[in-house]
Amino acid sequence: MERESIDFDVLFVGGGPACLAGAVRLMQAAAEKNMELEVALIEKGAEIGSHALSGAVLNPVALEELFADYEAKGCPLEATVRGDEFHFLTANGAFKLPATPKQMHNTGRYIVSLSKFTRWLGGLAEEMGVNIFPGFAGTEVLYGEDGRTIVGVRTGDKGLDKDGQPKGNFEPGIDLMAKVTIFGEGARGSLFKQMDQKLGLSRDKLPQVYETGVKEVIQLPEDNYFKTSKGNDIHTMGYPLGLNVPGGGFIYEMKDNQVALGYLVGLGYDNPALDIYEMFMKFKTHPFVAGIVKGGKVLESGARTVSTGSYYTIPQLAVDGGLMVGAMAAMHNAPAIKGIHTAMKSGMLAAEAAITAVAKKDFSRATLSAYPDAVAHSWLKAELYEGRNFAAALAKKGIGKFFHLAAQQVTKGRGLIDPLALEEDYTTLKPRQGMPGIDGVDKAVYDGELNVDKLTGVYLSKALHREDEPCHLVVHDLDLCVEKCYPTYQSPCTRFCPGQVYEIEKDENDKPRLKVNASNCLHCKTCDVKDPYENIDWTCPEGGEGPGYAAV
Ligand code: SF4
Repeated sequence: MERESIDFDVLFVGGGPACLAGAVRLMQAAAEKNMELEVALIEKGAEIGSHALSGAVLNPVALEELFADYEAKGCPLEATVRGDEFHFLTANGAFKLPATPKQMHNTGRYIVSLSKFTRWLGGLAEEMGVNIFPGFAGTEVLYGEDGRTIVGVRTGDKGLDKDGQPKGNFEPGIDLMAKVTIFGEGARGSLFKQMDQKLGLSRDKLPQVYETGVKEVIQLPEDNYFKTSKGNDIHTMGYPLGLNVPGGGFIYEMKDNQVALGYLVGLGYDNPALDIYEMFMKFKTHPFVAGIVKGGKVLESGARTVSTGSYYTIPQLAVDGGLMVGAMAAMHNAPAIKGIHTAMKSGMLAAEAAITAVAKKDFSRATLSAYPDAVAHSWLKAELYEGRNFAAALAKKGIGKFFHLAAQQVTKGRGLIDPLALEEDYTTLKPRQGMPGIDGVDKAVYDGELNVDKLTGVYLSKALHREDEPCHLVVHDLDLCVEKCYPTYQSPCTRFCPGQVYEIEKDENDKPRLKVNASNCLHCKTCDVKDPYENIDWTCPEGGEGPGYAAV
């Protein structure tokens, strides 16, 4: 097949904070060195920001390094944190803890909509000369003649029918060739999986672990909780997950009487009865949280995994022709529950290594290793290193985790055992038989306004996929789903997926079969992480599809 091929000096894959900050830093460095560069950035969402999910607390340290005058440049800030609160929830009560862990001291930092923030960064990058291509998904890594040097990325074909055959409006993907390709696909990147298999990027590292967050933006009435509250950065632990599964809730005040509300569930849980969306709803309808959001209406909903493994899970960051940045490369401060500033910094350091490589005309791993070297000498390493055993401590059952966490607090992350082992999330489920059931919320809570069910949540994510395209959720063995997974785990995909993509239906002979409603997919990647048989591969659908987050 004839494909168009375009050459660039540097190609960024992904339109999140890591690649956008990297692209801006690259153009700044090019201007400082009086170099002219051809730079491109591709984003699989329809626009920059359409796959970036709502509210988050931003530590502005990397932003200040990028633009000292970010406020004058119109950086969209929703609110300044005026107080942190940390609550322990029981089934019906809430106890404010006397102190918030030091990593979660956010007073003076900003609450941002990640969707608006990335749109703003994208606009600045474009003004500086970066060629931004939204609606283009990287689907294949291109290698040079040696089979190992990365030379670019192929974007996905558009206009294929269900069987993968070209239709009338077929557009073949484009080969975007680059001297240096910087990958920042976000947690559980699909190109990263390909590269990891071929190049062994995660060899000798602890396995990456994940949490899935379901998030909403809610419009509150004029007279709302935050008008009188001391804190507008609220975190919770305890109910509904209890102490055996990592996770917890967050509530951030946003502009115009809006609030970002979310609940994270660690994917190392063992009970296949657990339904991630139901956990979110149990959190949201807890009396403490319900009191904060009362009278509200959900404006936007979505879900995403985050990588929480931290320092010991960082993959090889530099290869011949390529660099890995952001959440895809474990650049997440797990104890602080923050990844924006760490992702940005990684992108900025990668950009500096890339421009040095372009100036030297040497794109070898040895030259590009200036990036991991710079990470090792920056505040980024110090933050990630302090969180190196945090996810493993959280994964401990019951109160035992608090001994590990307390020891880590006073030993700068070393704790009682260093390194503390991590288990791959797909290995942790136990057979359904013998595990207790987990109650969901009473269906009567779903009023379609403040409390919305999964399918309404999908609608509010504005997720769109063409119905007659190849299914982007590749279930390798459908027989395994019904012959092994259904009897053993009762099809946990029907519960861990927050988009109601997977359903078990009965055929005409009353035999169960898996139905995949791929158009509901929120691109959270939970199925790719948690399926107990690694039977599901999340692949990129056509560029421009998926959620349409705007943080309204
Ligand atoms: Fe998330 Fe997979 Fe469900 Fe899509 S199909 S919403 S990626 S769990």
